[in-house]
Amino acid sequence: MNFVFLGPPGAGKGTLAKEVAAAYRIPHISTGDIFRAAVKEGIPLGLKVKSILDSGALVGDDVTIALVQKRLVQPDTRAGFILDGFPRTIPQAEALAGIARIDAAVNFEIADRDVVKRLSGRRVCKACGFNHHAEFSPSKKDGVCDKCGGELFIREDDKADAITHRLEVYRTQTAPLIDFYRGKNLLMDIDARPKAEAILMVFKAKFKQ
Ligand code: AMP
Repeated sequence: MNFVFLGPPGAGKGTLAKEVAAAYRIPHISTGDIFRAAVKEGIPLGLKVKSILDSGALVGDDVTIALVQKRLVQPDTRAGFILDGFPRTIPQAEALAGIARIDAAVNFEIADRDVVKRLSGRRVCKACGFNHHAEFSPSKKDGVCDKCGGELFIREDDKADAITHRLEVYRTQTAPLIDFYRGKNLLMDIDARPKAEAILMVFKAKFKQ
């Protein structure tokens, strides 16, 4: 099946997408991860988008759509895929409709105050990418990843100003996609507050493999 995961930053889309990808054996395609990898590698795309990512604004539709189009012709997407963080604007959703069939848009529902709590406490491992949380899942040793011993850091776009900006961008540009997919009868709302295992059970009951 071909899934779109919708929802504000910090709703846990990426965490659930990893679980679903493993359970359904389909690739997890996160445009945010692709952009961050490009920044880390210092390739031209990364140089172009770094300041946009840091501020919490959106990369242009043309660049983002071209990237996804290229990814979705890879053979590993034939059995299905999860798009996490794409589409994020109506023009992206319209372009996607011309690129691939979408079977369901899963809408992660969470209040702004919970988003702020989740993002401002997030601590990411520089080495393995694992996420700790300063309050909900702190590492045993301050600043050090439990999984691999790597150094933990705060993403530039998880700082207070950028979080506020990302929520605004979500509300004005991305939230209209909820009605877009509801109008196509593809929307499934999911309560994003429980732990990933509990959400995965709800997901599996709804989408049988
Ligand atoms: P994420 O990890 O999904 O929160 O994405 C991190 C950042 O990457 C966003 O704040 C945007 O700057 C950029 N980005 C990711 N996906 C998209 C998209 N579909 N359209 C535009 N920008 C995106």
